[in-house]
Amino acid sequence: MGKATRPLRVAIVGSGPSGFYTAERLQQTEGLEVEIDMFERLPTPFGLVRVGVAPDHQKIKSVTKQYEAVADHPGYRLLGCVEFGTHITREDLRRHYDAVVYAVGAAADRRLGIPGEELKGSHPATEFVAWYNGHPDHKDLEYEVQNTERVVVVGNGNVAMDVARMLSRSHADLQKTDMADHALEVLAQSTVREVVVLGRRGPVQAAFTGPEVKELGELEGVDIVVHADEIELDDASREALENGPKSQQKIYETLREFAERPPGDASRRIVLRFLASPVALHGDERVEKVVIARNRLESDDSGALRARQTDQVEEIEAGMVLRAVGYRGVPLKDVPFDERAGTIPNERGRLRDLDTGEPLAGEYVVGWIKRGPSGVIGTNRADARETVAELLEDLEAGRLGGAEAPSAEAVDALLAERECTPMTFEQWRSIDAHERERGSWSDRPRVKLTSLDEMRQIASAVASGGD
Ligand code: NAP
Repeated sequence: MGKATRPLRVAIVGSGPSGFYTAERLQQTEGLEVEIDMFERLPTPFGLVRVGVAPDHQKIKSVTKQYEAVADHPGYRLLGCVEFGTHITREDLRRHYDAVVYAVGAAADRRLGIPGEELKGSHPATEFVAWYNGHPDHKDLEYEVQNTERVVVVGNGNVAMDVARMLSRSHADLQKTDMADHALEVLAQSTVREVVVLGRRGPVQAAFTGPEVKELGELEGVDIVVHADEIELDDASREALENGPKSQQKIYETLREFAERPPGDASRRIVLRFLASPVALHGDERVEKVVIARNRLESDDSGALRARQTDQVEEIEAGMVLRAVGYRGVPLKDVPFDERAGTIPNERGRLRDLDTGEPLAGEYVVGWIKRGPSGVIGTNRADARETVAELLEDLEAGRLGGAEAPSAEAVDALLAERECTPMTFEQWRSIDAHERERGSWSDRPRVKLTSLDEMRQIASAVASGGD
């Protein structure tokens, strides 16, 4: 197994960065002959690079060139429009492949657990991001940006930075991006004048990165507001900052500079609040007010600084709340799942049996469903390396059982039986070319297709040999 006479057959479930880095690592392994089938629920590959990365961060998206090189490699196939659990099961994959790698990311959101969280107008930021990025599942969502002046964003990570920016950037700026047309139309009518970002801990504990927070202060037509008293440091935070990485010190300098800016008169503003947590959302049918408690920092047993609520509360009006408090993994049918962590239990990427704790050779995980929703795109490269090392160790040690029906034809026949016609990478290329061409008419990187039917229609030209 793994030689030209009998290539190693690997199924990768998910076509985001972690899936592609896994495929890349396998392809780069010297002396290994490998056939990779990558399963994807949507017709479009690249996961959050397409439907997560902000539309005004096009440079980050150019990473897809590396993924295209992986797709060009002999032995690689994309099987788009194939849903795990519906069209193909865990058992099927174990029958047809020597190894299965789950690279499905974290599709849901964490909850705040406060009263009013379910009111109309309170949304997970993860869905808002998917909406403005044209994810077909989320294209019909509705946001209240046309009848409110203030939006509250909860959370202090890079997703909070992204959504605050998207709500504040001028229409002229957004129009130059590949933001989905439906979102552009809605945001063009936005009445939002103020976006308040709530960080539950202090400036030193913020999860966002330097360039992302700095960018907020550089937006044209947008004032940035930081209250000086909210970035004053307690002793523990000062010590953490002094001994912490340079990047953290830079973030603090940026925030200090924001706090020192004289009041501006721009038509929009972003307010970065710290030591502030929402404790309730109020409103009759929809969000009207957010109750915010002031926090102080306290060390827990491990020495980490946690937010502890004080009895100082205030209420601010807001017509929409975006909860940007992190993504959360979703269980896959018949695959072990750790509910508490929101991940598939694993040891260095090798699946672990939940009852016995024993590693299960032949099944692996990578990316956010392995380690939780952290890190940047490139983090997944090292992560994939670790998972592939375990897989290769199992191969070397003869622990990969060998699939019962190891052929592409057998998989195709199975999917055909289930009336599932997979989309190929070539078909994705035709969608890609179509979107880019439409973009070129208006000087945009692309105009995204957001309807599955439209995508299928464009792709069908390739399947039928048309142009
Ligand atoms: P994140 O970085 O984990 O940030 C989550 C934020 O939510 C933290 O500030 C956290 O505060 C806060 N939070 C959690 N529970 C809360 C609660 N109950 N109440 C109030 N605040 C709460 O998650 P993310 O922003 O979703 O980003 C996910 C990953 O994608 C990150 O690694 C991020 O860097 C990456 N990403 C990168 C970019 C980019 O590079 N431009 C863009 C988007 C996302 P605590 O720290 O106190 O827990």
